[in-house]
Amino acid sequence: MASEEGAARSAVYSDAPTIFDKIIKKEIPATVVYEDDKALAFRDISPQAPTHIIIIPKVKDGLTGISKAEPRHVEILGHLMYVTKLVALQEGLDQKGYRIVINDGPNGCQSVFHLHIHLLGGRQMHWPPG
Ligand code: AMP
Repeated sequence: MASEEGAARSAVYSDAPTIFDKIIKKEIPATVVYEDDKALAFRDISPQAPTHIIIIPKVKDGLTGISKAEPRHVEILGHLMYVTKLVALQEGLDQKGYRIVINDGPNGCQSVFHLHIHLLGGRQMHWPPG
């Protein structure tokens, strides 16, 4: 079993602060590639593709995962999608394409309960995904 999958299966759902809050507060280092007042994007510590970036809202506001989205989150969700496009362009992924992923819950392999978009690129992706 991949370590990511093991971590996700043993993860306990929680609305508590996560490792991403420490990255937002600059308490632990991360390679930040984009930042604005609402969103932060940084390189994944365990990349699954030559380019693997995590895009998060700076304020979680209960958005532990996409399944917890409420009408008040529509604006931030749209913003995060647009930021993902900007980061893909910045990373030079726009010509050949890329994949965005949101894992949700144990079956979705979610291990960090702070909504995040994975941006993966720089290699040929396959379908169906694992
Ligand atoms: P998920 O499994 O969808 O919840 O994704 C969580 C992602 O966060 C994984 O791809 C991890 O490799 C990544 N991650 C965990 N801790 C860090 C960290 N300190 N810096 C960067 N990425 C991290």
